[in-house]
Amino acid sequence: MKESRIIENKKVLVTGGAGFIGSNLVDVLLKQGNEVVCLDNFATGKRKNLQLALQNEKFKLIEGDIRNFEDCTVAVQGCDYVLHQAALGSVPRSITDPMTTTDVNIGGFVKMLFASKEAGVKRFVYAASSSTYGDHKALPKVEHIIGNALSPYAITKYVDELFAKNFSDIYGIETVGLRYFNVFGRRQDPNGAYAAVIPKFVSQLMAHNSPLINGDGSYSRDFTYIDNVIQANQLAAITPTIDFKDKLKHYSEGIGKSYDQEITISEVFNVAYGERTTLKELVEILQMTLSKFDSQINDIKISYGPNRGGDIPHSLASIEKANKILGYDPKYDIKTGLLEATNWYRENLV
Ligand code: NAD
Repeated sequence: MKESRIIENKKVLVTGGAGFIGSNLVDVLLKQGNEVVCLDNFATGKRKNLQLALQNEKFKLIEGDIRNFEDCTVAVQGCDYVLHQAALGSVPRSITDPMTTTDVNIGGFVKMLFASKEAGVKRFVYAASSSTYGDHKALPKVEHIIGNALSPYAITKYVDELFAKNFSDIYGIETVGLRYFNVFGRRQDPNGAYAAVIPKFVSQLMAHNSPLINGDGSYSRDFTYIDNVIQANQLAAITPTIDFKDKLKHYSEGIGKSYDQEITISEVFNVAYGERTTLKELVEILQMTLSKFDSQINDIKISYGPNRGGDIPHSLASIEKANKILGYDPKYDIKTGLLEATNWYRENLV
């Protein structure tokens, strides 16, 4: 019998389910017939991201805060899996306000993880981050080699990994961290001081404004389309324990590390496409894609400013571990993903 690669007939809690990544997970899980609970305080998430979900009787929205243990406990009751996305994203936000980022990203994380363990959740899959690689220069990034964190945000995401490993060891809850690399796609917010670069550039170009690149445009990122991230979350949740451990053993031996199969699963994986694109190339692709619908976009000049604090120059993931253990096989490269994303923005940006 062919093994399933998607989550079906389960009850799943998506924290941060009103956000960019969370709401996309919610919709896919509902489409696959699951029961889905969303816990979100709408700090950055939007009700309109849940428009479709709210019409589905298998969907339950809990407006609450992961910093409140009671909210976490109520939300997770009866769930098979947790896909924990709730956090305050953005490196610059964490530099401006490290206290709130830490409260939510560490305090809230621990509460959600502990509530999941108390509720008997089988596996806790959580959004980790490529920022954990910090100042380590080696490319591509492999999971077991990290540098020093360059921002409060990066620290919070690394501390989460430490808590996840510790909770797996002492309480026996399986945890899987997905280190996302610059995710983009439908519903990513183009507005606000902490907007991500792709939606910001798309909305600026569509409004005939010049996009501002921090630095000389040579910094590069492994931009990852949302549907690749959805695939990774599903595989991280459903890969059977025995299979996971067998493959992990082989992978660990391959990189010269020992692996004790008696220990509860607690692993991290890069989630990316596995190619890097400079910011200058990114704007060129966007101009090319968008100018098919509005030829003036091709003539917009790019502006350049100073580099931003906390930014790493280059980022590129090895996706070998996720491929070998979870069978992760991203289908969308940057150009295909950008075409899908720009089509969505053209229909949805007013
Ligand atoms: P997002 O801001 O769109 O979504 C985060 C969601 O969490 C929002 O709906 C927000 O309202 C909710 N939230 C925040 N604080 C909360 C709280 N205290 N209680 C309950 N809900 C709360 O961001 P996103 O891009 O969808 O990111 C999802 C996750 O992925 C985050 O953990 C983020 O750190 C991580 N991540 C994202 C990227 C990326 O490129 N987008 C890269 C690496 C990691």
